[in-house]
Amino acid sequence: MQNPFENAMAQLEKAAKTMGLDKSIHEILKQPDRVLTVSVPVRMDSGEVKVFTGYRSQFNNALGPYKGGIRYHQNVTLDEVKALSFWMMVKCATVNIPMGGGKGGIIVDSKSLSEGETERLSREYIRKIWREIGSDKDVPAPDMYTTPKIMGWMRDEFEKLLGHADPGVITGKAIADGGSAGRETATAQGGVYVVRELAKKLNLNPKETKVIIQGMGNVGGFMAKILSADGYIIVAISDSKGGIYNEAGLDVSAVFAHKEQTGSLANFAGAKIVTNAELLELPGNILVPSAMENQITAENVNNIKVQAIVEMANGPTTPEADEILVQRGIVVVPDVLANAGGVTVSCFEWEQNNKNEKWTEEQVFAKLEPMMITAFNEVWETKEKYSTTMRVGAFVKAIERVASKMKV
Ligand code: NAD
Repeated sequence: MQNPFENAMAQLEKAAKTMGLDKSIHEILKQPDRVLTVSVPVRMDSGEVKVFTGYRSQFNNALGPYKGGIRYHQNVTLDEVKALSFWMMVKCATVNIPMGGGKGGIIVDSKSLSEGETERLSREYIRKIWREIGSDKDVPAPDMYTTPKIMGWMRDEFEKLLGHADPGVITGKAIADGGSAGRETATAQGGVYVVRELAKKLNLNPKETKVIIQGMGNVGGFMAKILSADGYIIVAISDSKGGIYNEAGLDVSAVFAHKEQTGSLANFAGAKIVTNAELLELPGNILVPSAMENQITAENVNNIKVQAIVEMANGPTTPEADEILVQRGIVVVPDVLANAGGVTVSCFEWEQNNKNEKWTEEQVFAKLEPMMITAFNEVWETKEKYSTTMRVGAFVKAIERVASKMKV
């Protein structure tokens, strides 16, 4: 596997070349504005002290405060955090929200910690970075293995140190704690707006469009439900153990009821069992990877049998596979656009906190929809203008926006 930061910089290079980016701006965008590496000592329940390593990468704030999640995972590396902060800059700029790019992480196996240890870890991490964050500086959020509860502890610790309230310092909070209505389904809802625009461009009639969804968690699950209510034919869906397939379409509510009752997709009547690898190679119109990174690879890309891929997971396509998808003429809606509904509603949460407002779910989606539609069409137009892919189109559009606010 290539270094993620090198991958990110190769993408920057490609976009810079395509758009003829100013050399000075290109140089500045080759590294984050600031990277914090902190040691995070925690008194464990056993009484011993363990020291964890935490990072916060602040890539660029030309468009607004740095924005991006904090992940707790044993495989966190500085290069991964730096790459993710670059991609957050691109994502925020693609959907045109007033936020920059940031990301954080702690090297820790979160499942091995008790709740008390997790709270002490989260508070200590904030004690180490608090001077560099704030609603007008850097706004963290949840990511892998971090939750609304953890965000609540972080906000509390930050406000104690600051000496006054600043609820917009962190998003992804529980609703009772200042979170936004609609955040739970925002990423999927944003993805649905994207699929609808894509269907128009490809002249697909929803009622005849077969969709394959990998993953049925927060993103894949809600997408399956909303798309099927729209009339799309969901032919396959999966969880971590495998998937089910029916070429005539699955009854999505029945699938979820079955999974809830039995705990698995196995034995669902009227559908064939498929592995997660087989699911990616099924025939259909749109493939929606909504589980994990690196699913479409040089090994399986030639067996993909859809017209388009909507990347709801982050980084589901390897760079090698991406090249082959271009040659095969398969349209890819990149993650930085497809799953940006989540960060857009996080931005709405920050806005509500800053203005001391509370929006309803309807108000949230009424704001989200035009933003996703505009972003999709801007990326599409940029792709056409430069005769390139939607991925490069998104990077070009985003970097144009960031560059326009940078003074060099
Ligand atoms: P989740 O944990 O709720 O769901 C993940 C799903 O993937 C589950 O159905 C799980 O069973 C399935 N899965 C796990 N391992 C698998 C495997 N090996 N093969 C196939 N399926 C597997 O997570 P989520 O919040 O739905 O996130 C999914 C993806 O979307 C991630 O890549 C995440 O980074 C990305 N994403 C999520 C959000 C958000 O708001 N939740 C925002 C942007 C991007």
